[in-house]
Amino acid sequence: MADLYARESRSVSKMAHLRFFPQAVVGGSGAYLTGDDGRQLLDFAASWGAASLGHAHPALRDAVNRALSDQAGASYLSAANEPCVLLAEKLLSLVPERARGRVWFGHSGSDANETVARMVVAATGRPRILAFDGAYHGGTVGSMAVSGHPAQQGTRSADLTLVPYPNSYAASGPEAARDAALAHLEQLFATELPPEDIAAFFIEPIQSDGGMLVPPDGYFKAVEALCRKHGILLVSDEVKVGLGRTGRFNAFEHSGIEPDIVVFGKGLGGGLPISAVVGPEAIMNHAVAFSLQTVHGNPVCAAAALAVLETIDRDRLVENAERTGRVLQDTLRGLAARQPLIGDVRGRGLALGVELVADRSSREPASRQTALTAFRAFQLGLVIYYVGVRSNVLEFTPPLTLTENQALEGVAILEEALNDVAAGRVDQALIADFAGW
Ligand SMILES: *Cc1c(COP(=O)(O)O)cnc(C)c1O
Repeated sequence: MADLYARESRSVSKMAHLRFFPQAVVGGSGAYLTGDDGRQLLDFAASWGAASLGHAHPALRDAVNRALSDQAGASYLSAANEPCVLLAEKLLSLVPERARGRVWFGHSGSDANETVARMVVAATGRPRILAFDGAYHGGTVGSMAVSGHPAQQGTRSADLTLVPYPNSYAASGPEAARDAALAHLEQLFATELPPEDIAAFFIEPIQSDGGMLVPPDGYFKAVEALCRKHGILLVSDEVKVGLGRTGRFNAFEHSGIEPDIVVFGKGLGGGLPISAVVGPEAIMNHAVAFSLQTVHGNPVCAAAALAVLETIDRDRLVENAERTGRVLQDTLRGLAARQPLIGDVRGRGLALGVELVADRSSREPASRQTALTAFRAFQLGLVIYYVGVRSNVLEFTPPLTLTENQALEGVAILEEALNDVAAGRVDQALIADFAGW
């Protein structure tokens, strides 16, 4: 359908829009999307990582077809169904011992984090939650309440305390970033925030929407020790960077920590809505009918998630994320040597960020150039979005099936886009309607 983008604006609300360019898609296969103008677009966003196996993966299609051809109801609220039980058993095998209790299923990272936020307070009797400045834990009232991303238009909980996420680039080095972030936390515990009031600390093992910040070595290990000392539950929000994307199955494994509660979403359903919380039995079984939505635990989405996990295993996609991610990151570093707009290249596996700066010594954010680069890349055939509390970090969350050739193809397009932006060849008026976030 030609003109899909313009037609959409006459019928669909823009309240959920987070647009960077006028993209309209009619199909897709593997790492490519088909535009309504017939163009093939290489997809480095994968719908914010949700399309973890790429588009139209046969394993996902077959699983969904099977689940729908003999449908075991539409919900797990009032009946057990096999895909949910199998999926719960599988997820329990994929988390550390201390989290290996029970699994709750939802539709999204938002409802999962909201459930955790309510559940940990109810189960521990402790009122307060800790999270990071710049953290994105969701877009519902209860998940925004425990988030710290400045683009959100919701209210934070009065019981939330936000602490700085260590930013190695801004602090000119990982040790300085780690020490400052830990000092802040310890100071807080010693003064206005009694640690025995805190139910849980929500962490992102890589802070993705906040700018794809990779924690310095030793930081989360120290956070874990503080949490254990004070009986604070450690919640790893793996929604965007978990499930193999970083080159390990769980992103927290890079930090050598064992969270009490693990939250999965986005890529879990490979594009279908499903999320999961995995944690200790005493917390996860705190009460019945505590957090439920009608088609939670539906067997179709659960079957899709099982197919995603089986495919990650069978096709060694964790190894692929590690290997292809290394090629992608090395190639981006090579590009950084030629293109002064790039201030930093960071990330793990296929969760990467490229921070654009107007000036490398002051690290002044190049927010406008970032928006123009995403727009220009789209014109040239690459889908990439940007994140960061200053809107200046290009985010790479391609399908876990990405090949090395596709990685190189994407960076070549990105280089052309950056060169065009740096040379002033991209009209600023193009981004007037695409504020992004
Ligand atoms: C996207 C995201 C969420 C929210 O997930 P939704 O599916 O959008 O509700 C939560 N946490 C992290 C880290 C995310 O990236």
